[in-house]
Amino acid sequence: MKIKKNIKIVILLTSLILLNISSTSKANITKETLNKIETNFISNKNNKIIREKYKNNLLEFLLNAYNKKNTDTSLDICQKAIHYFPNDENIKKIVTGIYFEKAKAIVKNITDEKEKMQLDLAQEYLEKCQQISENPKQFDKALTDILVRKCDFFYQEKDFDKTQILLDEILKKDSNNSYALYRTGQILVERNELKKALTYWNKISDNTLFPNIKKQIEQVKKDINLQKNFKKISWRNFNFYTSQKYQRVSYSLRKKINQAYRKIGSDFNYYPKYNIAIILYPKKYYNKLGDNMYLTSGLYDGKIRLPLEDSVPENSLFRVLKHEYTHLVIRDLTSEKAPVWLNEGLAEYEAGVDNFRKKNLKQKVQDGKVYSLNLLNQIFEESQNKEKLYTAYTESFAIVDYIITKFNFYKILQMLKDFKKGYSTQEVLSKNLAKNQEEILSDVKTFIKKEY
Ligand SMILES: [Zn+2]
Repeated sequence: MKIKKNIKIVILLTSLILLNISSTSKANITKETLNKIETNFISNKNNKIIREKYKNNLLEFLLNAYNKKNTDTSLDICQKAIHYFPNDENIKKIVTGIYFEKAKAIVKNITDEKEKMQLDLAQEYLEKCQQISENPKQFDKALTDILVRKCDFFYQEKDFDKTQILLDEILKKDSNNSYALYRTGQILVERNELKKALTYWNKISDNTLFPNIKKQIEQVKKDINLQKNFKKISWRNFNFYTSQKYQRVSYSLRKKINQAYRKIGSDFNYYPKYNIAIILYPKKYYNKLGDNMYLTSGLYDGKIRLPLEDSVPENSLFRVLKHEYTHLVIRDLTSEKAPVWLNEGLAEYEAGVDNFRKKNLKQKVQDGKVYSLNLLNQIFEESQNKEKLYTAYTESFAIVDYIITKFNFYKILQMLKDFKKGYSTQEVLSKNLAKNQEEILSDVKTFIKKEY
């Protein structure tokens, strides 16, 4: 029931260009003055002196705006300057300079909600730079940086098709772009196309930007070996991978995942459209995936991985499948920012908790053995004590059950949105439930004593 986190890569627009234009006059030209000169210029376009005067004033105005980083006020003047003097070197230099600054300012101030729109706009300005400039190549690096940011955006939004199109575009410009190589490999690993993923990751195996890449490559190689005789069985956007022996199990889980997709989808109002890999390992293989795997009954790390044993009934396997699938939904909705207690509590809520566990928890509450939210997080991250973990799962479930019963599921969705925005647990609780952690815990205890 563990969750592993992905690394988010953020690369900032770093390239700089230098402008070799210097100002000659000291006077500041206002827009009004410039408009008057323009009117004169329009009616005397063939007069060389008037033409020169207008051009020099345009340059003065734009240089001023550039030096004061006051680019917004000059964007319409940029358009005019390029329109009237499309071949003038100095005009071209200053206008590309302003567009470049504008793109940089946009990237610097990007906020989550408007991210996609702002990236599109920055890209537009950089493409203008390339169209105007004599040396369009100098903007390649900056443009690639924007494409990388857009990739990150679509990746977080789980739009893997758009992410892949952008990654291909970056690799076409620069086949050694380490970000694109890493991200492409990562998407392929999540799709369980492991050998193909290695062809990308092997190219960056010595890159210090990815300190864990060697370990990740080893992990993929181990997984290729474990899945050596596995077959793929597809159902809608779910791909099951398992050995001959367990094919029958994958057929019955196929029907079950459809139920989970609809039920959990309607609770969270989210139905992922991309391909999801579900790997069913014989238990002894599953335990080889990492340390302490024996403590878990399933794993979600971009793929759903479940251990199979002849003695385990299909119903409990379906329980674990629902649990891990809920982790996938929460990861997508919060960009991996939900606290563990909420993540595990919701996963248990969707999987279903029986009366025996509820009564067991009630006894713990009566004995005064209840964990705080921080302690719950810590137990999930560190504990190897099965009984402690068992209680932590049930208690997290109870907190979620309390919120849904006393408020409703809509509150949960609001809370997840706030966690995605980066609010702390304290902030999310007081904003949505008007209570602090201690008050919540005390309410949950009362709730358990009464309801369980
Ligand atoms: Zn879990």
